[in-house]
Amino acid sequence: MIKKHIVSDSSQIYFEFDKAESSFIWDKSGKKFIDFSSAWNVTNLGWNHPEVNQAVIDQLGKTSYAPFWTLTDIQTQFAEALAAVLPAELDTCVRATGGTEANEEAIKIARAYTGKKKIVGFKNSYHGQSVEELALTYPSETIVGSAPADFIQIDFPSIDSAKSDKEILMEFSTNLESVLKNNDVAAIIAEAGIVTGGGQTTIAPSGFVKIIRELTTRYGVLFILDEVGTGFSRCGKLFGMEIEGIVPDIATFAKAISNGAAAIGALVTRAEIINKTENEAVLISTFGWTPLASAAALKVLEIHQRDRIWEKAASDGEYIVARLKEKLSDNPKIKNIRGIGMEIAVTFNDNIDARKIYQELFELGLIVAIDGNNFQIMPTLTIDRRTLDEGLNILIDAL
Ligand code: PMP
Repeated sequence: MIKKHIVSDSSQIYFEFDKAESSFIWDKSGKKFIDFSSAWNVTNLGWNHPEVNQAVIDQLGKTSYAPFWTLTDIQTQFAEALAAVLPAELDTCVRATGGTEANEEAIKIARAYTGKKKIVGFKNSYHGQSVEELALTYPSETIVGSAPADFIQIDFPSIDSAKSDKEILMEFSTNLESVLKNNDVAAIIAEAGIVTGGGQTTIAPSGFVKIIRELTTRYGVLFILDEVGTGFSRCGKLFGMEIEGIVPDIATFAKAISNGAAAIGALVTRAEIINKTENEAVLISTFGWTPLASAAALKVLEIHQRDRIWEKAASDGEYIVARLKEKLSDNPKIKNIRGIGMEIAVTFNDNIDARKIYQELFELGLIVAIDGNNFQIMPTLTIDRRTLDEGLNILIDAL
């Protein structure tokens, strides 16, 4: 839809946003909302974080921008800090402006490195808004993302009460192996066992990421781990790759990387991969890692480490799921409640108008994210217990 000359996404509720702080948003009429969306995994540390703001202000005193063929101290400090918290092999950063661009860079690097073309993705997930990324995960009849020949879509192995986790993983492993064995595959792109970007918050049985790692290694395929949603403590670890303890060939980051203070994305990989591909892959980003965005990202990473934000995310996540299950498991409207860390889903039965409930919550002062019959619950990771309970009570009472 178009509002005031600007195209605005109509999947979520439209409102005139005025200001935000910690776990609260105010609209232009002055109405205050509890936010259970974190702007879809952006403001993990809480909205408008004062320390991050101060880091941006300090950087403005030097320069907001530097050309892409130079390096500034703040950029190298951020690269060093990011590499230091990742497994040792992941030591080389490519600059980007967001998740779409970082994943595009990953696809180009994988093709240049392997000399192969095809990329495997999971149906109904999301890795960005480019033509290629839509072709990778959206239904093949989607006209804007129509380049299917070089993309292979496979089913995500969702936990399913009709089958055991072992059966699901065995089926997945067999399918993936036949795809990797028989095709000219450069890379597979996946999240760390949960789909955060597609709106349905689907979870795979534990072991999913290890299977991808083993099979990609066996068949000379690169494993691109999209950490745009799982990264920065959302899933109870600083990064999603820690959940199963694997090291991907390439990891991509965005969203919570700057807590919303500036547009920035990152790709991190092995130096050996970049040495072999950098000329062919055309890794040029005019606005990738501006000094201003790098200052925000450096401060954000420092806060995650200093305050061990992932620990609170893990325990608050368990609390939320337990509370929702206790109060809503018998609710006839609800099909399923599940989550990893503070990435939580409430799925409604097909006969329920989830959008109506979503709008009611909004009227009552609670913002969640919605896709079809699924609510995605992603509070800020720093939310205090009182506000968390207040938001949960609104949700539980409305249901
Ligand atoms: N990957 C995932 C998992 C995402 O959720 C998103 C954004 N929703 C992207 C990539 C794309 O990131 P951006 O919007 O910064 O381009």
